[in-house]
Amino acid sequence: MVTPSHTITCTKNALVANDVYEFAFEKPQNFSFKAGQFVLFDVPLIDKLDDIQTRAMSIASSPDENELLFVAKLIEGGRASRWIEEKLKPGDTMRIQGPLGFFTLQEGITKEYLFICTSTGAAPFRSQIRTALKSGDTRRMDLIFGARTEEDLFWQKEFEELSHEYPNFFLHFALSNPSESWAGHRGRVQTLVPQIVKDFSNKHVYVCGNPDMTTEVKKLCLDQWGIGKKDLHVEGYI
Ligand SMILES: Cc1cc2nc3c(=O)[nH]c(=O)nc-3n(C[C@H](O)[C@H](O)[C@H](O)COP(=O)(O)OP(=O)(O)OC[C@H]3O[C@@H](n4cnc5c(N)ncnc54)[C@H](O)[C@@H]3O)c2cc1C
Repeated sequence: MVTPSHTITCTKNALVANDVYEFAFEKPQNFSFKAGQFVLFDVPLIDKLDDIQTRAMSIASSPDENELLFVAKLIEGGRASRWIEEKLKPGDTMRIQGPLGFFTLQEGITKEYLFICTSTGAAPFRSQIRTALKSGDTRRMDLIFGARTEEDLFWQKEFEELSHEYPNFFLHFALSNPSESWAGHRGRVQTLVPQIVKDFSNKHVYVCGNPDMTTEVKKLCLDQWGIGKKDLHVEGYI
C-alpha cells in the first residue's frame, strides 16, 4: 500500500529545553492517525535544497487535537536538526508521509501501562497518555521520563497538570546529572523503574528514546523484570 503524503503548514517552532525544539503544523483534514504513530518528513539539506532525505518524527499531539505537534532533540550537524534550528518557521510548508508505525496502544489489554522514555522519546507518550486518559481509561499509568539535567526537561507542567486531573496517572522524573537542588530521582530511568514497580506481572510496557536506553531497558524487561514479549513495545530513535 502506498503511504499517503501531505503538505503541512508550520504554526510554531520554539526551543523548549536544552537542544529540544517543539514545532507544530496545521493538521490536514484528511489526516487521521493512532496515538503513538510517526511521520516521515522530507528534509532538505540546508546548503543544497534539492538534496532531500526523510527523517522520522513521532506525533506528540493526540488524534483529538487540531494540530500535529512534534519535538526534536538536536544532533550536532544533523540534517533535520539544522533544518529545525536554522530554517523552520511559522508559515513554512513541509511534505510528510504517514502516519506510520505500530507503536500504538493495544486494544483489549487490561494490564496497567508503564511508559519509559528519555528526552524526546516522550513524544508518542504525550499522545498516548492524553488519548487513554481522555477516553476514560482508569487503569494505573506511570510515565518515567529521563533526561540529563533540569534544563533538558520539557512538558513538566503539562504532565503535572494531567497527573493532578487524573488520579490514575503518575509522573516520575529521573535525571542522570541534576543540579544540587534537584529533589527527585538521581540516575537513569533504568534505576528508577524498580523503585516504582513492585509487581511487573501486571504491567504493559512501552519504551521510547535513544537506542542505547531502549536496548538496555528491553533487556532488563525480558531478562530481569519478567515482562513477556507481548507486553513490551519498544521504539528506538535510530
Ligand atoms: C520511528 C522513529 C521516530 C522518531 N521520532 C523522533 C522524535 O519524535 N523526536 C526526535 O528528536 N527524534 C526522533 N527520531 C529520530 C530522528 O528520526 C532522527 O534520527 C534524529 O532527529 C536525527 O536526525 P538528523 O537529520 O538531525 O541527523 P542526521 O543527519 O541523521 O545525522 C545524525 C548524526 O550523523 C552525523 N552525520 C550526518 N551526516 C553525516 C555525514 N555525511 N558524515 C558523517 N557524519 C554525518 C551528524 O553529524 C549527526 O551526528 C525518530 C526515529 C524513529 C526511527
